Amino acid sequence: MTRTMPHTTCTERNTLITYAYGECSDEEQTRFEAHLTHCVICATELESIALLQGAIDHMEPDRA
Ligand SMILES: [Zn+2]
Repeated sequence: MTRTMPHTTCTERNTLITYAYGECSDEEQTRFEAHLTHCVICATELESIALLQGAIDHMEPDRA
């Protein structure tokens, strides 16, 4: 079984990070959203970042 992982790094990766953390400008955001519609790499990456953020948000240390 051959498993092909899209391990290519997108040139927009930096924007992706900024976007994921809600730190990019309106212009960047619009541009990146357009990019997302045709970039599987970023779409996948954004999804995993979102999952991670969700995991962190819901991480409630059970401190007594
Ligand atoms: Zn991309």
